[in-house]
Amino acid sequence: MSEEHDQALVLRWQETLQDVADRARRSGRAPADVQIIAVSKRQPLCAIRALAACGQLDFGENYVQEALEKQKGLALDAVQWHFLGRLQRNKAKFVPGRFVMLHSLDSLPLARVLQEKCETVGVVLDVLLQVNLGQEPQKGGVTEADLPEVARGVAEMSALSLRGLMALPPFELNLAHKQRAFARLARLRDRLQTGLGRSLDVLSMGTTDDYPQAIAEGATMVRIGTRIFGPRAC
Ligand SMILES: *Cc1c(COP(=O)(O)O)cnc(C)c1O
Repeated sequence: MSEEHDQALVLRWQETLQDVADRARRSGRAPADVQIIAVSKRQPLCAIRALAACGQLDFGENYVQEALEKQKGLALDAVQWHFLGRLQRNKAKFVPGRFVMLHSLDSLPLARVLQEKCETVGVVLDVLLQVNLGQEPQKGGVTEADLPEVARGVAEMSALSLRGLMALPPFELNLAHKQRAFARLARLRDRLQTGLGRSLDVLSMGTTDDYPQAIAEGATMVRIGTRIFGPRAC
C-alpha cells in the first residue's frame, strides 16, 4: 500500500491514542490504565505492520483462520494477539500459545477445552468472560444470571487466568444507554470480585462508536478498529 495511506493510518492511530489518554485523564485515571487493542479483522497485513513499527503492539482479531494467516505472515514476536470473536469449540485448540488473551469466553464447556489445550501446550491463557448485557440470543456471551456460576468454574481452572469481563452492548442503543450498559458491566465486575474473593483487573469495553462512554465507566481495554484503520474490507 502507498506511503500516503500509511501516513494517514499512523495519524489516525496517534489521534486515537491522544483522545483515549485525554479521556482517561478527564475520568481521573492515568492514560496508561486504558490500553488500546487495535482491531485488525479484515484489515491488510501491511496496515498492521505499519502500526507495529510505530509501537502499537496489541491487535484484536475475530476469525481464527484469518488471524493465524496474519500471525504467520507478520512473524513479529513483539506483537500480541487478542481473540475477540465468537470461538467455536472445535477451533479452541488454536488459541492457547497463539493469543495472549481471549476476550470472548462464554461457556464452561469451551473453558474446559481451552484448559485441556493449555495444559498440553504448557501455557496459562488470560481470559475475559463476555457478558450478554442485552440478552440478545444471536450474540455470544454469558447471561447475567449465569455469570457467577461460570466465573466460579473458570476461576478453578489452573491453566486459565480469569482477568475480567468484556461486553459489546446492543448495537441499536443510543450512547446514553450504552454508557449505562458499561456502568452495569463495571458493577457486575465489582460484585464478581467480591464473590470470588480475587481481583478482576480488566474491563474490555468500548469500540469506535462508544469508547468515550466506556472509558468514563472504567474501561481498561478499548477495542478500536474503524477509527484507526478506516472501513473494513468485506
Ligand atoms: C469489530 C469489533 C470491534 C471493533 O469495532 P469498530 O467499530 O471497528 O471499532 C470491537 N470489538 C469486537 C468484539 C468486534 O467484533
